[in-house]
Amino acid sequence: MGELSSFLLKHKRSFPIGLSGKTGMGYILTGGISPLSRSRGLAIDQIKEIQGFWGNGKEFHLFKPNTKKESTFEWKALCGAAIFFGIITKVKLKTQPLRPLLSWTANLSFSQLSECINQAESWPKSLSFQWIYGEDIFANAIGEVKNTDNESVLINLLERLPFSRNKTIKKFNDMNSLPNLSLGNKINNNSNHSEVLGLLGPAWKENNPKVLKILKNLINKRPNKSCYIASQQLGGLTHFNDLDTSFIHRDAVWKPWINGAWEAYDLSKRKRTLEWMKECWNNLEFICPGVHLAQIHPHLEWHEKELSSAYKDWLPKLQEIKAIYDPRNIMPPLK
Ligand SMILES: Cc1cc2nc3c(=O)[nH]c(=O)nc-3n(C[C@H](O)[C@H](O)[C@H](O)COP(=O)(O)OP(=O)(O)OC[C@H]3O[C@@H](n4cnc5c(N)ncnc54)[C@H](O)[C@@H]3O)c2cc1C
Repeated sequence: MGELSSFLLKHKRSFPIGLSGKTGMGYILTGGISPLSRSRGLAIDQIKEIQGFWGNGKEFHLFKPNTKKESTFEWKALCGAAIFFGIITKVKLKTQPLRPLLSWTANLSFSQLSECINQAESWPKSLSFQWIYGEDIFANAIGEVKNTDNESVLINLLERLPFSRNKTIKKFNDMNSLPNLSLGNKINNNSNHSEVLGLLGPAWKENNPKVLKILKNLINKRPNKSCYIASQQLGGLTHFNDLDTSFIHRDAVWKPWINGAWEAYDLSKRKRTLEWMKECWNNLEFICPGVHLAQIHPHLEWHEKELSSAYKDWLPKLQEIKAIYDPRNIMPPLK
């Protein structure tokens, strides 16, 4: 995605890549939530053509339907659940005009995180808030500047955010140049293994103090220092009316994700971390009923639950489509 963004920069165009330039095609196929998704839509919303081979070996080449009525089950399945059906060899993507980006970054206290989330929930769609909570709390806000007036509106909103230290506001040319959402070297421990589970849910509003209290409790008992909980903001215009995709949680406002880490090859520590992840999921489910399958876990007992939380009522139809196009389960299982 970073290469795509840098290539488009030369042509004054952009694509809503995610928080990291390092992700590949899987970013697009699994939804692709960008800090710009609130206004630009998901990565799957930009797909105009898709080519590849179904699990049954047959080739396909599908075009984006003009209206929801013209949409086919196959198109809908490939937009958001493609990794279960086949190998994608080519996509044609819509690109967008390149606009400058504003980036706000800072370290926050616990109560400042709560206040920032509150403020972000009433922001315009051109601004989004991301945070990561582990050993420390670090946050970033990313805004797309449409014109000079809009820039001062965004800067005013960013200046209202509380912070404890290291606040910066900078302007960037493209998504690939933005600072990483990370807690620094402390979490980049190569001797760890990890799993990630992405959740989706509505605005926290009056539940904000309750959710924050739950988060604090979960972080305090995390089994490994590299475990953390982070979140991206989405929602708003991601639900374009003419789109029919397998990303059914169009009204989600937050995508919190749980990063569980343990010392590599230590099976008892792995078990503890997976239990902590499940505890996080159970505790947050009331405010995050959905799942974003950016990562799939066919090797874990919660695979069935993550599938049903990701696709809800649409799952049985996806399973029918899979029985036709990938009858031997060459691709990851949908059960
Ligand atoms: C640092 C980092 C930041 C991230 N930030 C974001 C973010 O901001 N927003 C977001 O939505 N997600 C984000 N993710 C999640 C990421 O988008 C998913 O993990 C995605 O699946 C990664 O795709 P990949 O191609 O890089 O990885 P891979 O592990 O190669 O692929 C992921 C999955 O997609 C399948 N796949 C890949 N290519 C194809 C293909 N051509 N045809 C069929 N199946 C294929 C693979 O088999 C695998 O199941 C982030 C992940 C990381 C590591």
